[in-house]
Parts: sequence; C-alpha cells; structure tokens
Amino acid sequence: MSNSLAGLCGKLCPSEKVTPQKDEEMAKRNQSNVSQALKQPAAIISNVVKKDIEEEQKNEKDLETIKPSRGHRERAKSYVQGKLQRLYVKLLDERYLKHKSVEDVLKKILKNLLRAMEASLQNWVIGLGRIFGKIICHLNPLPDLTLLSLSANDISIDVLHVKEETFLNYGETVRNVPRYMFFPNTFQELQQVVHFAKDQGKRVRCCGMRHSWTPVFADDDEILISLLPLDVTDTLTHVRSKHSMAKMLDNWKSEMRFIQFLRELPTEEGTKRKAAVRLGSALTNLELLKWSLENKWTLPWDIIAVMITYGGSNAMICHGAGIQSRSLSDLVLEMEFVNFLGEIQTVSDPELLRSAAGCFGLLGIVTSLTLKLDYMTYAEWMPRKTPMWKSIPKPGTGLVEEELRLKKLCEESYYAEFFWFPANGSTEGYWENCWRNDGREEDSQPLNDQLSSDYQVASTFLFDLCTDVLVPAMEILHDLDANKEIVKLVRKVYSSTVSKAGVGALPESEIPLITPLVEALHFRQGFHYISVREMELSIPIPSTKDGEPDWSIVQRAWWDAIEIIDKSYLEHKFACDMTLEMRVMGSSDSTLAPYRGNKNGTVCIEPVSTSVVPNDVWEDFKVEMANKWSSYVDADGTPLRMRPHWAKENPRTVFFDGQVYTGTDYLKMIYTDEIQEFATHLNTICQAVLWFAPARLAMGFGVRVTSGETDSLTPRDSCS
Ligand SMILES: Cc1cc2nc3c(=O)[nH]c(=O)nc-3n(C[C@H](O)[C@H](O)[C@H](O)COP(=O)(O)OP(=O)(O)OC[C@H]3O[C@@H](n4cnc5c(N)ncnc54)[C@H](O)[C@@H]3O)c2cc1C
Repeated sequence: MSNSLAGLCGKLCPSEKVTPQKDEEMAKRNQSNVSQALKQPAAIISNVVKKDIEEEQKNEKDLETIKPSRGHRERAKSYVQGKLQRLYVKLLDERYLKHKSVEDVLKKILKNLLRAMEASLQNWVIGLGRIFGKIICHLNPLPDLTLLSLSANDISIDVLHVKEETFLNYGETVRNVPRYMFFPNTFQELQQVVHFAKDQGKRVRCCGMRHSWTPVFADDDEILISLLPLDVTDTLTHVRSKHSMAKMLDNWKSEMRFIQFLRELPTEEGTKRKAAVRLGSALTNLELLKWSLENKWTLPWDIIAVMITYGGSNAMICHGAGIQSRSLSDLVLEMEFVNFLGEIQTVSDPELLRSAAGCFGLLGIVTSLTLKLDYMTYAEWMPRKTPMWKSIPKPGTGLVEEELRLKKLCEESYYAEFFWFPANGSTEGYWENCWRNDGREEDSQPLNDQLSSDYQVASTFLFDLCTDVLVPAMEILHDLDANKEIVKLVRKVYSSTVSKAGVGALPESEIPLITPLVEALHFRQGFHYISVREMELSIPIPSTKDGEPDWSIVQRAWWDAIEIIDKSYLEHKFACDMTLEMRVMGSSDSTLAPYRGNKNGTVCIEPVSTSVVPNDVWEDFKVEMANKWSSYVDADGTPLRMRPHWAKENPRTVFFDGQVYTGTDYLKMIYTDEIQEFATHLNTICQAVLWFAPARLAMGFGVRVTSGETDSLTPRDSCS
C-alpha cells in the first residue's frame, strides 16, 4: 500500500488493530473504501467548489499584478482566455457536477493545475490548489478527540484520546496503530497516562510535531502521547483551518507550553551575557521567536524551521549552523521529565545531561528544558545568489582565490549554509547564506519588513504551492492515477516548479541587513508544511598533515553530491528534486551526537526530495550518496566517521572501511563506545528506560529488549 494511500485510508476508515494477516485484508477493504469515496457524486462538494471558484474568478484581475516574462505573459493570456475559463464555467454548472464523480473533478483540476504551473500562472495555481485541497480535506476528516477516564493510582482523570487510529509522521515514513493516542494538556494528565500505561503493561512514547523521519514513535498496540492536538500536527492543517498556526497553538491550552525566565547567569567580564530560561517541552520555535524579540534573550543557534517543538528537537540532538555552534542538547542546563513511575524527575548533573538531553525520549516524557540563552546580538545578514563555483569551487580546478574565500567563510562566519536547487542548473539555483553576528543594535531592522517585494511574492507562492497544492495532491495522487501517467507529469512539473519557486523564495542582499540574531536564524517560515524526504549525514572536518582544518572536505562533499544528482537528472530519475543543503557547524559534547569529537567541526550535508520521487529511486540514491561520503579518509588514511542525523532518514546500507553494513548495523558499529557510555548514564538516572522504548529503536542501539519494567540498557557486547 502506498504511503499516501495509507494516509488516506487511515483517515477515511475507522482503524483497527493490525496483525500481519489483517493488514492485507484491511488494505483491500481500505482500497475499496477510498475508491467508493472518490466515486461519490460531486454534488457533495459542489458548494465548496462553487464558493472557491467564485472567489477565484475575482482573482482573474490579479493576473495583471504578476510580472512574468513576455513569453510567459502571452502563454498565460491565451491559456486563461481559453481552456481554464471553460473549465471553470463547467465546474460551476450543477448539471455537470451531478453527473461527475469526485474522482473526475479532482483529475480535471489536477491536470489544469499542472498546465497553470507550466504557464507560470501563480494565482491560478493557488486558486485551483485551494479547491483541490478543500476536497481532499473533505474526504479526510480528522477523528474527534474524546475524553477517556483513566483510573490508576487510586484516582480517575479524564484525558483526551483517540483509540486505534493510524499514526503517520509528517514525512510519511512511519506508520503504525497505537492502541491509544493521548493528548494530555496538564502535568497531572500526563502523569496519569503513564500510570495507566503501567497498569496496562504498555510501553509509552511521545511525539511533538511528528517531523522526525526515523521510527522513533510508538509501536503498534502501544501508547503514544501527543503534546499537540491533531489539528496542529496534521499535514493538511493549513488548508483545513481558517486560523493561523500561531492562533491554533494559542487555542491549545497546555501546561507544557510556557517560557519562564529564571535568572541571569554569572559570566566573565567582556563575554556575552547569558541567562537560564525554562521552556515547556511542547513549546514551538515560533513561540520562542516571538518571545525572544520582545525580551531580547535568544538561543545562540537553533534549527531554521519554526514549527518544531523543543521537546522534539532536543530529543533528537538537532543543530543549526556555524563553526562555533553545537547542538541544542549542548545548551540544556536542566531537564524535567515524567519517569516510568509517573513521577516528575529532574536531571541537572552536567555529566549525566550529556546523555539525558539527547536521549530520544528514552527516559520518559520530557515536560521542560532549562536552556542557556544569550543576550540578543545582531546579525549582518547578507545572503547571495552567486554562481556555485565562485562560492564552492570544484576540487582540483585551481581556483585559489575562491578556495581562500570559502575557508574564510567557514572559519569566520557566525552562520554558514549553502543551498542548491537542482532543476535550475548550477548557475541559477545556488544560494549562499553565510553571515557575521556583530551588527549594531541601533542599525537593526525587523527582517520580514525589509525583504524585497519580489521575495515576498515568491516565498508566499512557494508557501501556498506547498501547503495548498503539493501536500493534498500527494495525499491522493496514487489512488487516482492507476497508469501513473499523471504521476510522471506531476514529477516533472512539480520538480521544476517547486525548485524554481524555492530559488525565487530565497532572498539576496547587496549590503548586510542588520537584524536580531533570532530573526536571521529563522529567516524563512512556513516551509515546514511541505512533506519531504530527507537524509542528513555528518562528516568530520579532517586535519591536514600540518594539523590545520582541511576545508577541502567541504568542496569534495558538495561536488560529489552534485555529480550524483546530475547523473540522476541525466537518467531522468530526478532522485533529488528539491534541494541540496550543506551546513558547517562545530562539535558537541552530547554523548550520541553525530558531531561529537569533531575537533575541527562538522560538515552536515543533506539532499531533500519531494514525495513524488519513487521510493526505490530515493532509497538507491541515499545508498549511493552515503557510500561516497563514507569513503573519505583523514591525512593518515584513517576513514572519517560519517554519522547520520538521528531524526532524518538512514541509508539502507553503508559501505565503510571495506565492509557493507545495514543502516542499523552501521549505527551500532560507529557508536559502539558511545552506546556503552549512554547506557551507563541512563541506567544511573532511571532504571527502567526500555519501558519507554519501542523495540526497533532499542535494537538500533544494540541493547537487549526483555519484558516488564525491569528492562535495562545493556552494552552491545552482551546483546542477545
Ligand atoms: C522543515 C524541517 C526542517 C528541519 N530543520 C532541521 C534543522 O535545521 N536541524 C536539525 O537538526 N533538524 C532539523 N529538522 C529535524 C527536526 O528538527 C527533528 O525531526 C525534530 O525532532 C522534530 O521535532 P518534533 O517536534 O516534530 O518532534 P517529533 O518528530 O514529534 O519527535 C521526535 C522524537 O522526540 C521525542 N520527543 C518529542 N517530544 C518529547 C517529549 N516531550 N518527551 C520525550 N520525548 C519527546 C519523540 O519520542 C520522538 O522520538 C527539520 C525537520 C523539518 C521537517
């Protein structure tokens, strides 16, 4: 069953516990339910469609405001005056709708959407996309959350829940059916769910925004705690809701969403002011961004996306960019969590925190994190679109000046990030986002107010394209298109449209724009809505024979990727159809961080693709890429310890130092020593760690899984 069909089925049909035998039956049953739903007379959706079409007719005038090239304008005009107008008239006709199924209408809209994309008709694309999205939402209602009375520990507490509903992460790489999904919004409810789970003999896992790609969520028949409601974490949120994400988060009154300024920390004279700030684990980057602007305390580094919870990004040892930056977990001063006994426990011993902070939720449900924040500083933000070779010269081309510039960028920038959008060629589609952080407060301006109107238009288009068009289209495409003809066309058109829109949506600046650090760290909002596939590998920056950082690794990692991506384009496979991103960062003390021990810093490199890339193409591509990056050696010939990001996709296999490993065996091998240390730390903090872990995650760490709450992490050597 395709991922998108799975998603559709999970939402269309009441789910039930899946056993291997039942799975096949269920797939057949779901398939026919989907088909039936699609074959319903379109009259049920006609009001939605009509209303939007009326709105979109008004938009015709807006076409004048788009400024495409002369060729595009001609094509646009003839297209609008011709086919698209006729289709709209037809869709408005009740008689037509009475005789057509939802499937017919969707197919028609989709085909026209693609034509509008090819003709670069941005407003029409968005208009048609919204109609399309509304129909998909109508076919995919969210299940209602209901209260379940949980009796345990001599008390009874009502907690919102759904039973045996299919869980899907955002990237649709993890699908399972937990027995219960609970949505506690007080500490007491959270503790009660853990007591209840203990009584029922169930393991517990947690999720935030569901943005991780690896199987770190609950297993079938176990218990999942979601710290955010379904209407926030659902992939169709933007199309479904009338409200902004900020408003929807606000409506969710959770005790796990708070910001508490604790105290300013003592620092040496002449160094940056620091403060301890306590954050609820369900708090998102979006909310901290707003608070930081108002209160002038900021995280020194963070991930770019704003719709991520701190519980989630800390658990997976996430990072930002810049040679002095480390992981989020390196900033944790104290972590508070509900342990397997349902008690609230804290860890603040710096040695134990090295494992506790980035422990993938294995200790329990984290309720708060106390992080070390900096007093606000000001970025000199100056992103550029330049020819790629000027920014990252190809190794061996003898571009000495450019190589020196790259070295300087990596060593001196506060933030160093590079992007390439493949469908645009290497000259047009390249973007460099490297900046210093020593601007003056008096020169500072809010970033979003200052960006050019072209950027605003392009980025809004990209946002709408992703949210209104791509996500819902992918939900349903595989079910509509038996011959895969539309899928092929969609692959081609989406790849180039998303990629072109991506480049268009990236700003550039000829002079530095001084802006609060926190704004530069989160320079673009909204892109989280697109459901993509992503693999990130961390490569240590080796030393030259003289003991200096060998920055040529940045060029090699980048251009080896370009070569493989280009080859895939020539073979018409388009394995990486969205972007290639590379960040230079520092090291980490977090026990299982992929960046730990990298004394010269780390190159984090990640290809990103849309979900229209076929699975086999993407899986083969990941292996090819990983094998290339794992082949690098230090000056003395020692293989560099390439390590995958824990939250992002792993390659199926890795060839390392003359041997092929499965993705999981590679993790066990590459982290052998760290796993021992991790296990010792976690056992010291809390004995019953595995009671919280899904079996697959625990096996990934090379630990033994037994039943009951006396499970403990055991070193890999004694793994059964
Ligand atoms: C658009 C986008 C951009 C991204 N950019 C970056 C980036 O710049 N840098 C980077 O390093 N990563 C990045 N990521 C990866 C992302 O930061 C991680 O996947 C992160 O874990 C997602 O947070 P979440 O709230 O979705 O957590 P989820 O994916 O829902 O959860 C992840 C894990 O955390 C655990 N967890 C979550 N909350 C708790 C809790 N309260 N208690 C205990 N365990 C918990 C869960 O059990 C699960 O194992 C990006 C992802 C996306 C989609």
